[in-house]
Amino acid sequence: MVDVSTGFQRETYAANAIVFRAGEAGEAAYVIDQGCVEILLGPEGDQRRVDVLATGAMFGEIALLDGLPRSATVRTLVPTSLIRIERGHVEGLLRQADPVVQYLVKLLLGRVRSARTDGPPLLGLIPQGQDALSELDPSEQLHNAAVRTLSLAQSLSDGIRLGQLEVHYQAIVLLSDHAVAGFEALVRWRHPVLGLISPDEFIPLAEKTGLIHRVGEFVLRQAVADWAQLRPLCQAGTGHIPFMSVNLSAPELCAPGVVQRIQACLEAHQMAPEELHIELTETIIISSVEVVTHVVQGLRNMGVGVALDDFGTGYAGLDYLQTLPFSCLKIDRSFVERLPNGERSVQIVKSALALSDLLGLSTVAEGIEDAATADLLRSLGCTYAQGFHFARPQLCQALIGPGQVPSGEGRS
Ligand code: C2E
Ligand code: CA
Ligand code: CA
Repeated sequence: MVDVSTGFQRETYAANAIVFRAGEAGEAAYVIDQGCVEILLGPEGDQRRVDVLATGAMFGEIALLDGLPRSATVRTLVPTSLIRIERGHVEGLLRQADPVVQYLVKLLLGRVRSARTDGPPLLGLIPQGQDALSELDPSEQLHNAAVRTLSLAQSLSDGIRLGQLEVHYQAIVLLSDHAVAGFEALVRWRHPVLGLISPDEFIPLAEKTGLIHRVGEFVLRQAVADWAQLRPLCQAGTGHIPFMSVNLSAPELCAPGVVQRIQACLEAHQMAPEELHIELTETIIISSVEVVTHVVQGLRNMGVGVALDDFGTGYAGLDYLQTLPFSCLKIDRSFVERLPNGERSVQIVKSALALSDLLGLSTVAEGIEDAATADLLRSLGCTYAQGFHFARPQLCQALIGPGQVPSGEGRS
């Protein structure tokens, strides 16, 4: 079955099975997940082995790029599992790729083509360290990195399907009395072998491979579904609307119909739009101002809050703060952690708070790890705080069990 969101598919073959024959159309490339294959050249019945490829090797990729028929036959030697990468998917990725990457691919392809006409025939596949392309390859490391990325992407895709993602919730508190005001939903991947993997490690991969749409959809649904249980943990009568914050990546924000999908999810779980906050980083805004403006406006019209995450770490300038209707500003941890011993950081945080005040936004200071920083932020007029000093991200069950905000990451 093809995983439509990634263009990858795992295929298993018995020993001595043909993966493809010379002359066939080249619609896919393959990475050997487990096992090994032989590369055969020559007419049927009189074929000779020219190479053997083992786990981690990629083959058939040239056909992905130039669309010419296969020039060799590939047969398995032992039971083999392959990750198949569809041409359409690679073409889609290339269209979205950085222009430098597009240029490099074009350049390499041109060289491969001329090697094809000038030198010995290429196979329509690239055995490592054997042929014309590997001489031209800027580095074998690059190849290895690509193979690693592809197999990790395949495991992530499997992991999502097998329910290995978890959402942990970190409390956001009112600095005035430390009452819980809301939560931020933070995803983790509980890998069966590697253990709990941080989003910093797999979100970039998910963004690169298109898997982020499935990750994001899972997190949003889970967070909205868990809200009925988490909402009662937020202190009533504070005059603040309790909220659940969910992070959105650039590809998710730019996907058509994102506002409608969020609305449908809220309706399905009868969650008030005002109680959902979507967190966006400055980097997202720079990536596509027009789309972001449209989506942020759509979310705000619906009543959903929009927070500017990691404030101060991007390079977007301050103009967009005036034009985009944010409801909240999150001061990045890098400023907060230097607060206790840095007059400069105090000034930066003061400016952020003044700016926030001027624009009528609420402010969350992130990454508070001690009481001194919390006290300082309260005296500077910051309303909300988030950090290990108050609570670590926790599973919903762990949070609702003890009746108050527990500390310590993981399962109950
Ligand atoms: P973020 O949105 O800035 O999330 C806050 C991160 O700071 C979380 O890391 C949280 O565990 C950590 N943190 C909170 N308080 C403290 C503290 O006092 N000290 C320190 N040292 N760290 C603290 P986490 O959960 O590893 O998430 C990392 C990043 O991954 C997030 O940064 C966010 O950019 C991304 N991310 C997490 N979940 C999702 C998701 O569902 N979707 C998307 N698109 N991105 C996500
Ligand atoms: Ca965030
Ligand atoms: Ca942040």
